[in-house]
Amino acid sequence: MSMQGSVLALGKCLACLEFMLFPVWRGIGASSGIGWSQGWARCLKWDPNRTDLAARIPVFDYPVWLVLCRGGRARLREVCQRGRGAIRLPTDMLSFKLPQLFDIHQVPKVFREDGIISGYRHPRSSALDCILSSFQMNNETINIWTHFLPTWYFLWRFCVLCSTLNFLTDSYTWPLLVYMMLICVYPFTSSCAHTFSTMSAESRHICYFFDYGALSLYSLGCAISYGYYVMPECWVNTWLHQHFVPIAIGNTVFCTSLSCYSRFLELQFPKRSKALRTIAFVVPFIFDTVPLVYRILLCCGGSCSPTGALSNHCYHLLFAFLTCFLFTAHLPERLAPGCFDYFGHSHQLFHVSAVVGSHFQMEGVIADMTSRRTWLLNHGMMPSFLGTIGALAISLAINLGIIGIFSAPLLWKPCRSPNQPHSSTCGCKEQ
Ligand SMILES: [Zn+2]
Repeated sequence: MSMQGSVLALGKCLACLEFMLFPVWRGIGASSGIGWSQGWARCLKWDPNRTDLAARIPVFDYPVWLVLCRGGRARLREVCQRGRGAIRLPTDMLSFKLPQLFDIHQVPKVFREDGIISGYRHPRSSALDCILSSFQMNNETINIWTHFLPTWYFLWRFCVLCSTLNFLTDSYTWPLLVYMMLICVYPFTSSCAHTFSTMSAESRHICYFFDYGALSLYSLGCAISYGYYVMPECWVNTWLHQHFVPIAIGNTVFCTSLSCYSRFLELQFPKRSKALRTIAFVVPFIFDTVPLVYRILLCCGGSCSPTGALSNHCYHLLFAFLTCFLFTAHLPERLAPGCFDYFGHSHQLFHVSAVVGSHFQMEGVIADMTSRRTWLLNHGMMPSFLGTIGALAISLAINLGIIGIFSAPLLWKPCRSPNQPHSSTCGCKEQ
């Protein structure tokens, strides 16, 4: 077969191919049910038998030797132009309509946020809508990404530690292992909660139940790592030291229960709900931090020399106070409602502050674990499986049970959920 014949045969072969092109987003509630049109089914066909130029792909009209040898520069240019025309797609195939956004008066009360006027997603979004909406600018987008990206940062730090420490057999590292697992889990859970919180009123509550549960478990991770690595020397082997982890497990029960319960008071008693939720997270934080604060005070009094670990712990405390302030104050959007709907509202700043604080805390814990190893192993208790991984497993089971108890009424007896974005709805409200 000649070169020309081969090329033509190749062209005919390719003519049989059909190319599935991009799907077309038709918006929520489109006839296809989930918003995607028949875009996947639309094909562009190569049909060399058709004579109209728009449908024909004449790139292979010239044998290769002709293009290359017979002064093919002009031919080549022509081929390129034809190729460019051939891959031009119908404009509607490239259109991509993102989910519609709503203003505050168009969504049920349960979805409304103080000081946020616009950028709300549909309150009955599908899971796919929710995932897509994370790539669209709405009032939750930054909330999603400010915890999703740090998840990968903490995972990377965890992987580096896995390559340098022996988490499997060195029980001294187990408190850090628990801490690192939970510092990865809490921002990821929060990111998922913000992503899928607009599927329905019930799903919104359940999403945030998991968010609170993950934060609660993170407080346990802090307690376990502080109990073994950060405790001031004069408190090692005291009653508080020996009971630090069991009390912290009790704190997770208190924290998850109270924070989940507070959601049911939000619409009727918003201030009481906010106060209860703040107390739910502040109590474990104060308990975890007391040994650290005492150690810092001892250092300020000249009883120890300042270390790099302590400066990290101090930065962590500063960001922890800032986080608490942002959570309760709702600034700046309270001063200028509608101006910070997409960028700069308090929940985004709260996320960023929490992550930066967690970073300094992690560095402080790692520095203490490394620098105090010899002293702690000589004077303290060797971390046990039950006091570290076992405590996490027990607390995880209890907290999942609590979330199940609070979720059951929503799943079994769902209150009337909004089918329309402007209809009113049941119950309770997010953060
Ligand atoms: Zn959040």
